[in-house]
Amino acid sequence: MPETKNAIPLDVAENLRDIRARIARACAPVDRPAEEVTLVAVSKTNPADRIRVALRAGQRVFGENRVQEAQGKWPALKQEFSGVELHLIGPLQTNKVKDALILFDVIETVDRPRLARVLAEEMEKMGRSVPVLIQVNTGEEHQKAGILPAEARTFIGECRDALGLDVQGLMCIPPADEEPSPHFALLREIARDAGLPVLSMGMSGDFEKAVPFGATHVRVGTAIFGSRPKPVA
Ligand SMILES: *Cc1c(COP(=O)(O)O)cnc(C)c1O
Repeated sequence: MPETKNAIPLDVAENLRDIRARIARACAPVDRPAEEVTLVAVSKTNPADRIRVALRAGQRVFGENRVQEAQGKWPALKQEFSGVELHLIGPLQTNKVKDALILFDVIETVDRPRLARVLAEEMEKMGRSVPVLIQVNTGEEHQKAGILPAEARTFIGECRDALGLDVQGLMCIPPADEEPSPHFALLREIARDAGLPVLSMGMSGDFEKAVPFGATHVRVGTAIFGSRPKPVA
């Protein structure tokens, strides 16, 4: 394959240092300690060897968007490295809930009542409580997962009170073609209203903008691992 600009081998460890420094620089003017912002390294589509470089560099919090792909990489990596915290950041089908709960430490994408019910049932059966975030579709995009902002308050209450889920906060993915700041502000407002401390927002292109709005978790993929191979059509 011809080497394109995006295929240049990148130094994952160096990128991690760079992102951490950028997070610290974004925190300073808003008087937030950099430790308040957890870097979730999004390793989807990256092979285990590449992820190992990040692990050796000390990175411990990772995000994957597909249960099956994560099952192929992470059981072994979790055995090799202690203290790994794996976040599911992609849509979860109810028939994959059990597998997801075995492997993931945080489910960031609770986006509908049926999924919340199945998660609660399965956690009960397994005797394992896994922290969750509610995904909010702040842009009200038809094709995007997430609860609508107007329905968020009721849904959060259901998850917490009726189902007993350990709801720690909210996550969002702003529309790709819009200024993200209003979406970050909206997510913060909904979380404040519900008394939720965790805000997962901001990706490679906009994590520095998410920090002033209170992001506690930024999900960064390409800026650490380089651009992902496009799926073959
Ligand atoms: C892929 C992905 C990311 C990381 O995106 P980058 O632009 O590569 O940083 C963050 N969040 C979610 C939900 C993703 O699917």
